[in-house]
Amino acid sequence: MATIKILIEWYAKQLEHGRKASSTCCLIKAEDKKIITDPGCNREKLLKALKKEGLDTADIDYVFLSHQHPDHILLAGIFENAKYITFDANLIYDKDLMLTFDKNILGPDIEIIETPGHVLEHLSLLVNTPEGKIAIAGDVIRRVEGEEQIVDISHPDHSQAKGMDMDTLIESRKKLLSIADYIIPGHGKIFKVDK
Ligand SMILES: [Zn+2]
Repeated sequence: MATIKILIEWYAKQLEHGRKASSTCCLIKAEDKKIITDPGCNREKLLKALKKEGLDTADIDYVFLSHQHPDHILLAGIFENAKYITFDANLIYDKDLMLTFDKNILGPDIEIIETPGHVLEHLSLLVNTPEGKIAIAGDVIRRVEGEEQIVDISHPDHSQAKGMDMDTLIESRKKLLSIADYIIPGHGKIFKVDK
């Protein structure tokens, strides 16, 4: 079984000329692999959180990027030895090598699943842990600052991203909610799924 540690919980704050924000970043340990999900954009916080786990950027074996928005991926390049599983779901990146995608590459406890809707190319992870199945959802399930966290599959996607498709997004939400015991949203707190 795998374990998940939330290294940085999503935060967002409205500023006069924009916002200060970064997505949730997790560390998964599965067999002998260490995996970082959506490293976000706060280098200082991320390095500090890794250090607290006794880790350095060089210790990370895989980086998982749910989709192409910069608040999820800006720090992707700082892990010098990692292979990259990305929203480009046909390839796994290892420096300048673009290798055939293998959906079982993270071992028997981690499933890589396609969850389009927020944008067309979007992946989530489903992780077998001692607490149950935990979905690292990316932006399939998200909220904006100031909003109460509720589970509503038709909740509007405020990002207005190019390629956003509400019907597809609802299908991806249904899929995650039906298979996961817990959801870790890209923006929001971990929650238990009411079955
Ligand atoms: Zn996004």
